[in-house]
Amino acid sequence: MSLVVQKYGGTSVGDPERIRRVAQRVVETAEGGDAVCVVVSAMGHTTDELIELAAQVSRDPHPREMDMLLTAGERISMALLSMAINDLGHNAVSFTGSQAGIVTDTTHGKAKIVEVRSARVREALEEGKIAIVAGFQGVSTARDVTTLGRGGSDTTAVAMAAALEADVCEIYTDVDGVYTADPRLVPGARKLRQVSFEEMLDLSANGAGVLALRSVEYARTHGVKLHVRSSFKPDEGTWVVKEEDVLEQAIVSGIAHDTGEAKVTIRAVPDRPGVAGRTFRPLAEAGINVDMIVQNTSVAGLADISFTLPESDLARAEPILEQLARAIDAEGFTCEREIAKVSVVGAGMRSNPGVAAAIFEALADEGINIEIISTSSIRVSCVVPARDAERAVNVIHERLRLADNVLLQADGV
Ligand code: ASP
Ligand code: MG
Repeated sequence: MSLVVQKYGGTSVGDPERIRRVAQRVVETAEGGDAVCVVVSAMGHTTDELIELAAQVSRDPHPREMDMLLTAGERISMALLSMAINDLGHNAVSFTGSQAGIVTDTTHGKAKIVEVRSARVREALEEGKIAIVAGFQGVSTARDVTTLGRGGSDTTAVAMAAALEADVCEIYTDVDGVYTADPRLVPGARKLRQVSFEEMLDLSANGAGVLALRSVEYARTHGVKLHVRSSFKPDEGTWVVKEEDVLEQAIVSGIAHDTGEAKVTIRAVPDRPGVAGRTFRPLAEAGINVDMIVQNTSVAGLADISFTLPESDLARAEPILEQLARAIDAEGFTCEREIAKVSVVGAGMRSNPGVAAAIFEALADEGINIEIISTSSIRVSCVVPARDAERAVNVIHERLRLADNVLLQADGV
């Protein structure tokens, strides 16, 4: 008998009929002889609706109360799914994050899991019950209810799988796996059979919405095997595994894109030691995550510094930047919201030069201007105008022939 953790996303439990369908699928797994722990997201757009509701009563909702409110979404779906399973003649029992032993730090809205005390869920499974756990939530070390950040149910599932030493953590979603690019944007995008944790981390960090970044980090750290698959079809999806377990390493695995970033340029910064430190310290202290930092070589002792940051942090960053520009004697700063970051990810790039050149040529042939480039050993990211993002992803996908899976890395190259 194996132990399976199954996570169902918001679309998969979006209405009563879908909940009954999920119940059926869970029961089939249980009847196949496996112990099943199920993690659920809130139904459909419940979380967005609750956020909207909060905005109608408060301009700046208190973080503790916001978490109280948002955790209600997953409470609804867990109870409904449990009822539906019970109706099918199986014994199901639901648990809130707190009851399931998900202990987090005290950062409301984005809490980190510090420990999973899984005894209660384990007991239920040992009694032959199907355990249903509310995703996206836990209880803090200060005994308050917390949430794990948007998309956090994936992390709950991986954490439960690690704590229960499950054989696999299945992420059921409305797409049937991880694709070479967003299939809504690129009609020829291909489903990957396997992808390594490292590649998946880069894809998730750069806009691929299919798995929450933290869940991939957690899975890598704890060696949890992930299987991303469709709630509506029985087919195999995509396995996220250790790099050494990837059977056919492609040079490029996929393209992610992110339109949620903004670009800041601080103009004519005096070229003196210490200026970069003084620039980024106050942003870091405000909890703003900057990315893709570039500094040009200086002309007449002055250099421009550009970087990207989440667009949602821009309003908080602006007053800091204003003060900063004055403090370091810069000429001023500019912000651009209408940008997109397109990232090409593949472990095989480490040993295959030429991918970056092919990407830049593809963009050049389309007349798409690249505003910033940054690279790691397995990723090339380009900032392009937001209106060109879709075209950029498509032309790169085509140039690298990702639809055909031809760029496999030869052994020993
Ligand atoms: N319901 C939460 C959200 O919408 C968590 C999740 O679905 O994973 O972000
Ligand atoms: Mg999700």
